[in-house]
Amino acid sequence: MKITRVSTAVLEANFDWTLVRIETDSPHTGFGEAFVGPGLTAVIREFNEILLGEDPTHIDRLLRRLRASVVYASPGLVWHAIGGIETALLDLLGKAHKMPVWQLLGGLYREEIPIYADCHGDDALNSISPLLLPRRPAWMGSQAEDIPARISIKHHGWDASREETHSPESYAAHAADMAARGFRILKFDVDVPTPYETDEYNRALSPMEIDFAVDLAKAVRLAVGPEVGLAIDCHWNYGAAAAVDLARALEPLRLLWLEDVMPPENIPALGHVQRATSTPLATGENHFFRLDFQRLITEAGLRVLAPDVQKLGLWEGRKLADLADLHYVNLTWHNISGPLGTMAGAHLCAATPNLLALEWHAASVPFFDELIARGPRPLVHNGKVRVTQEPGLGLEIDLDVAYKYKKPGEPFFQE
Ligand SMILES: [Mg+2]
Repeated sequence: MKITRVSTAVLEANFDWTLVRIETDSPHTGFGEAFVGPGLTAVIREFNEILLGEDPTHIDRLLRRLRASVVYASPGLVWHAIGGIETALLDLLGKAHKMPVWQLLGGLYREEIPIYADCHGDDALNSISPLLLPRRPAWMGSQAEDIPARISIKHHGWDASREETHSPESYAAHAADMAARGFRILKFDVDVPTPYETDEYNRALSPMEIDFAVDLAKAVRLAVGPEVGLAIDCHWNYGAAAAVDLARALEPLRLLWLEDVMPPENIPALGHVQRATSTPLATGENHFFRLDFQRLITEAGLRVLAPDVQKLGLWEGRKLADLADLHYVNLTWHNISGPLGTMAGAHLCAATPNLLALEWHAASVPFFDELIARGPRPLVHNGKVRVTQEPGLGLEIDLDVAYKYKKPGEPFFQE
């Protein structure tokens, strides 16, 4: 079997959902999904120069060549591209050998994958470009609300309208609704606009801001009770002192994890905060290298890692899961992809022992399940995704439906 073409299609959903298709000189075609990034599809298509004519079954060696081609191990956008290609190769290999991808990754630990619902900071439907700018695709119609992009260090923008959406009552109602839909783990943002914010850039939190955040989280805990796992995300907004204060104030809520309370690069600072609190910190969606994850475990003492499943890919993800398992560290996989990428993540989660949960970020995207031509539908059911015995990823996207949501200016595969 030889690769004959690698092509892409981008759907404009809450984020860009970038599909990668790998065709071969056999009847088999593989599909993957890549993490968003400006200029991403040009990078994926340029990799045709390396991939054309190659045997797609030697996946680890091909990945090493792709990474080495861009100055060895440069992370970021190129890894996003490689992750999507890698998933398509695994889908292809599974189809060619009539095996599900979870089988290729070592076999089943579980068939039903616990999914955590990312409930954000409010209910509003929202779509963001690869540069984190708000946008309004045609399908959003009148449901769209003007939401400021999440590019400021903190979130200015308190006004009277926020009193309703950023209140303990609204968080509690949203949490109760998602728990009633079957989710056993929920994640909420508390780095939201508050009436008390003083400075956008200093990474500090005043006692009033901390009380505001804790009140939101406490309302969720009271709404869903102790059986539902609760995670909180802060999107890298705070410094070490604020992080210690917030993490300690959240201790009575016994969070599953407190995510990205600080920027991800300063591993000693993360260790300082983790040693000062019993709240488990988590980070990982901005990291690519196993060596960095190892430092997060051994130097910062993190007990939960939150790597992104599309950024790393399934094969690299399997290796990372093994590394974490050596240290009895659990993984909660970050995932902002569409149905194909979410199913890919489920295969990795099915085949690794040390799983907490896989994220689902698309509960508000109305056409998520409409995109599925073959495979479990609805994909996320009762807070779980079920992997099947079908070969490859066991999920095919309906390309006619996908075309309706194609991103303007992007090719739809080789059109
Ligand atoms: Mg996050």
